[in-house]
Amino acid sequence: MNSKIWLSSPHMGGTEQNFVKEAFDTNWIAPMGPNVNGFENDISLFLGGTTHVAALSSGTAGLHLGLVLLGVKAGDEVICQSMTFSASANPIAYLGAKPVFVDSESETWNMSPALLEKAILDRQAAGITPKAIIPVHLYGMPAKMDEIMDIAHRYGIPVLEDAAEALGSSVNGRMCGTFGDIGILSFNGNKIITTSGGGALVSENPGIVKDARFLSTQARDEAPHYQHSKIGYNYRISNLCAGVGRGQMEVLAERVGQRRAIYNQYYNKLNAVRGIHFLTEPAGYFCNRWLTTIIIEPAIAGFTREDLRLALEKDNIESRPLWKPMHLQPVFSGCAFYGDGTAENLFINGLCLPSGSNLTQADMDRVFAIIDKFIR
Ligand SMILES: *Cc1c(COP(=O)(O)O)cnc(C)c1O
Repeated sequence: MNSKIWLSSPHMGGTEQNFVKEAFDTNWIAPMGPNVNGFENDISLFLGGTTHVAALSSGTAGLHLGLVLLGVKAGDEVICQSMTFSASANPIAYLGAKPVFVDSESETWNMSPALLEKAILDRQAAGITPKAIIPVHLYGMPAKMDEIMDIAHRYGIPVLEDAAEALGSSVNGRMCGTFGDIGILSFNGNKIITTSGGGALVSENPGIVKDARFLSTQARDEAPHYQHSKIGYNYRISNLCAGVGRGQMEVLAERVGQRRAIYNQYYNKLNAVRGIHFLTEPAGYFCNRWLTTIIIEPAIAGFTREDLRLALEKDNIESRPLWKPMHLQPVFSGCAFYGDGTAENLFINGLCLPSGSNLTQADMDRVFAIIDKFIR
């Protein structure tokens, strides 16, 4: 059997172990310490220097805290992009609030501004103002944040920006994660950089980040004993994981370059093939190319995305359909949805190709050898 080629696997830079060793040597084996502070600083600088950062145990924890900080309570409605990973929407359910799903537009595959506004107007006509809007930057491609923020401001609804897949992506030089009232990042094992598991909540508002730190460390009031006037969470990152993160921040820009080079290889080889389409960058958009994705039109290409996925799998190569939209998930059946079929079509015909920054040329050649059999 050929060795496994993963969709996206961890890629250490080399200095991570130094930071972890230092944590051992100084006995900072705790959910706080110099690596946590250093990691937060590194992220803040990377995002442009004016962003405040609370490093957490996961991106999902960031979304949960973000909704808590925006005041979402049981029975409230929260608008969420339908085409996404379930972690974008699950925290709405943690709070007993109701997701209202919005479809994608076809240019970035992210939340459609037109359908977002339609959803808000329709909810308002029913006497409800949604408490928050959760747009996502799928596969690293920035959503149409200028339009989404305009609409959000017009209706006075805060934005929780899910930038879990988009660290290093930007629009006109502004980094993803910094557009919303609150942004979240993920450092899960398959993301562009990883702490083995981790995330961050970011905001230009220092008060929000201070409150996130407070809630993420069990909401202890200032007192010598344990005193609580709020429900807290245990969501802080460990000083060990943050050490891995500091090492990874040193190579983040390089990782973005490597993933973009992999996208370019796929694009140059397959863009001319009839029935295969790529997600390209609108003017001013910069995508970290976390995953390279293609749409296969079966009627024109002569094969389906599932044909290709199974052939890759037979050669021990991992590929994956695009995210199945949340409004089609059994667990969210019955939730409101505003759409026009865009996300559903992307799901039916879309495939994520191996995109890790540690793929070798031999790996890429194996992937192309399988694809070549279909397009001949
Ligand atoms: C990975 C991911 C998350 C969750 O991040 P974790 O760190 O795994 O909890 C949230 N949203 C999206 C879009 C993701 O891809």
